Amino acid sequence: MPSNRTLTIIKPDAFGAGKAGKIIAHLEQGGFRLVAARVMQLSGAQAGEFYAIHKGRPFYSELVEFMTSGECMPMILEKDGAVAALREAIGATDPAEADAGTVRKLYAESKGRNAIHASDSDENAERESRFFFAESEAIRG
Ligand code: GDP
Repeated sequence: MPSNRTLTIIKPDAFGAGKAGKIIAHLEQGGFRLVAARVMQLSGAQAGEFYAIHKGRPFYSELVEFMTSGECMPMILEKDGAVAALREAIGATDPAEADAGTVRKLYAESKGRNAIHASDSDENAERESRFFFAESEAIRG
């Protein structure tokens, strides 16, 4: 996957509250181009595997429960320096600490129910994109 792409998920809190359109518009206005998208409800096994890195952390079971609680919207986004740019656009994990104008400041409820996921490295962007999308499903370059 080219390093100008990253993986995001509109999480069940935001998707269920009908905020997906506003979040996508916000990201597009920030210069991100949508190259793949789907709507799905994660199984416990899928959420557990996706967040395996957090296994053993005190919030792990709460995180898996939350991520399986409703539909979510994984997407591949494209922009120069996509990983860093999207991390900046979504803001801090806890919306109380997120900068003004970030997705989490605008749309998240709490540190757990925080509206959106974004890959934190090019390596994870690649792994996470392959988790949700076949190579053929992302518009080519
Ligand atoms: P991110 O990269 O900003 O999403 O944050 P992390 O990788 O540290 O955590 C992954 C996800 O786990 C976060 O986005 C939250 O949904 C959840 N999470 C992190 N810390 C906490 C916490 O202290 N409590 C709860 N309930 N969830 C948390």
